[in-house]
Amino acid sequence: MSARILNGEAFASQIHLTTATRVAALRDRGITLGLVFIRVGEDPASRAYVSRKETRAKEVGISSRTLVLPESTSLAALLKEIDALNADPKVHGILIQSPLPSGLPNDIVYARVSPAKDVDGFHPVNFGKLLIGDPTGFLPCTPAGILEILRLGQIPTAGKHAVVVGRGQIVGRPLAVLLGRKSPGADCTVTVAHSRTPDLPSITRQADILIGALGRPLFLTQEHIRPGATVIDVGVNRIPDPSSPRGYRLVGDIDFASVQSIAGAITPNPGGVGPMTIALLLSNTVRAAEDATR
Ligand code: NAP
Repeated sequence: MSARILNGEAFASQIHLTTATRVAALRDRGITLGLVFIRVGEDPASRAYVSRKETRAKEVGISSRTLVLPESTSLAALLKEIDALNADPKVHGILIQSPLPSGLPNDIVYARVSPAKDVDGFHPVNFGKLLIGDPTGFLPCTPAGILEILRLGQIPTAGKHAVVVGRGQIVGRPLAVLLGRKSPGADCTVTVAHSRTPDLPSITRQADILIGALGRPLFLTQEHIRPGATVIDVGVNRIPDPSSPRGYRLVGDIDFASVQSIAGAITPNPGGVGPMTIALLLSNTVRAAEDATR
């Protein structure tokens, strides 16, 4: 048996089609969407991520620009830039690309973005709305993208046991809340595992839906999977690869080669969660513009 592939690129294309239609409807009302990426420093992975997001934004008709700040940028200078974008009515969405240089505290920076322009869904107000189930907030893009993968992949969720490995702020924690919500496309019984969880395989083997969001290359293998389970791979990890011109390659948290033969459905990596994260970012941006111009 070989697992059904949950093709994130194809699902993302479906979402982009809807997004493009909404962008066109705004354009007909004379509204040009503005999305600004802030990149601090020259981290190569961040450059690649932002460039991919810019390309997709352009494809759906969203005009984006990137504010590139030097690695040495002070917290005060960064906050001033964010304040200016918050005040600019032509800017509907602001995304600060992580990781930030070590001197810039994530919590202070992300909390400075206006919640109404926080299309990444990282602001404490939006996180609070997620917790209480208030739909006026922006959902964080990766967890929301994973729910869309389950929906578009027609994976039943109600009453299923979802095990999320990783309790990080960006993925694991919000995803566990979303999967456990009383709503269609959720209603899971959720277990969250982390680095202090003993005998991880005994927990993950109970999962109908297993999500690897731990950032450990190829960590989850056949011994962690219940035959027939749905497996979602969030991880993006660099491992050395002398055969690659870059000297490394990117792999996920799931050992796809071993897991594929026993899982029921599985996301490829790349081509699974990553494209959906961008799709949800762009649909959040359109919603920000729709809300701001109602
Ligand atoms: P994070 O904040 O560092 O959280 C990692 C979590 O994994 C922590 O809760 C940690 O446990 C847990 N963990 C680490 N080692 C473990 C182990 N051996 N067994 C069980 N749990 C373990 O990371 P993150 O920001 O959530 O990101 C996770 C991964 O997703 C990374 O590879 C990241 O690059 C990727 N990511 C991908 C996308 C995408 O669009 N594809 C988006 C965001 C993130 P403790 O809490 O106990 O330390």
